[in-house]
This record gives sequence, C-alpha cells and structure tokens, in this order.
Amino acid sequence: MKQMCNPKIQEEINNIYQNKEKIGLDNAYMLIAHLASFNSNDPHSQTGSVIISKDNEIVSIGWNEMPFPGNFPWIREGEEENTKYPYVVHAERMAIHNAILDNNTEKLTDSNMYVNLFPCNQCMQQVTMYKLKGLYYDSDKYHDATFSKEARIIMKEYKKYKDNFICKQITIDKDKLSEYQNKYSKILQKNK
Ligand SMILES: [Zn+2]
Repeated sequence: MKQMCNPKIQEEINNIYQNKEKIGLDNAYMLIAHLASFNSNDPHSQTGSVIISKDNEIVSIGWNEMPFPGNFPWIREGEEENTKYPYVVHAERMAIHNAILDNNTEKLTDSNMYVNLFPCNQCMQQVTMYKLKGLYYDSDKYHDATFSKEARIIMKEYKKYKDNFICKQITIDKDKLSEYQNKYSKILQKNK
C-alpha cells in the first residue's frame, strides 16, 4: 500500500522542484523533505524524506506513518506495545518502499536521500542495502542516542565499501520553515 501525499503539498513540492536551480539544489531537496514531513499524522515529531536519482529526478518521498490507516497509538510513553514505536514506519524506509512500489528500485542505486532528521540504525541499514550514494540530513537532535551512534557505525563501515559516499548536514532556515508550516497547517488540520 502506498501512502498518498496531500495534493496541496505535492503542488508545493513540484513548485520547489521546478525552481531548484534558483533555490540551490541541496536547499531545494531538503525543503522538499521538510514538506513531505507535513503529511505525517504523528502529533509529536514529523519526519520527511525525498530520494533524488543520479539524474536529479525525484524518485519518491516518504514520511513517518503507520503501515496502513489502522487504529494505532501515537503516544510515546508506557508499555511498548501501547506506544507508537513498534508500529510506525520511518520516513526513510517509507521513501524506499514507495520507490519500490513505483518500480523504481534500480533508481535507488547511487541516489541521494534528503531527510530532515539524521537516520536511526535501521534506516541506515536500508540506505546502505540499496546502495545510496548520499545522505543529507537537517536536524541531528538525537546525536547521542544509541540508535544514532549505531547508524554512524554502519555508515563508517559503508564508507569503506562505497568510498564516494557522502553524508552532509544541510540546514534550512527556521523562519523559512515556519512560513511553510503556517501556510500548510490549516489545510492539513482540515484533512485529519
Ligand atoms: Zn529510522
């Protein structure tokens, strides 16, 4: 099952993509990752990801979401089975899944992923298994968490295997982001 992007957000993503040269490629793609995150139903943290092929095409986008629109909890505390953690699919994984569903698996090789939060170890596994060439992230707020450290260990090993792999932080201006958040929050509230 493929999760569908909100049409208004898709329109804005297309708009940013068309103006990518003017905005600067890295900034444009990171902005698209942030916009993808607005699709998420997670009330606490919204993560978004976009995969860009080596020919600079958008292969797919993803955001943190339940695997299908079932009745799952979004809470973060309590018995693990009552929290979101065992159920939620991370944005990076969803983007890869969406690429596969669109028969674009081969475009994942040497593609670049932009994600608004540094990946966990499990998403880093996916990045390396599908042989991505670049990983660009914005926030690194969980830098000291175990899953981030493990992700960095995977990345360090991956660099030995794929020596042209790039990992780089691209920070989007916070005022620019709140501009988009304000613009879309009302539209999105209505749809939820
Ligand atoms: Zn993850």
